[in-house]
Amino acid sequence: MITINIDMDSCQNYGQCVFEAEDIFQLDEDGNIQYTKEVPDDRQADVENAVDVCPMQAISFTVS
Ligand code: SF4
Repeated sequence: MITINIDMDSCQNYGQCVFEAEDIFQLDEDGNIQYTKEVPDDRQADVENAVDVCPMQAISFTVS
């Protein structure tokens, strides 16, 4: 299981992560990021891509 965390103090709601995995990361109607906190291991590549594109380096994850 992959546990995702977005540092909401750093996140500026740019939404680049959404383009990497829009079923995990979404912008709500107010433009704020929402995300699924636990995803299966086979999504690690998508989560890593989101980490890489985030301009604020706000996304981290752990694998357990
Ligand atoms: S790419 Fe980073 S800064 Fe932008 S919405 Fe996603 S977590 Fe927030």
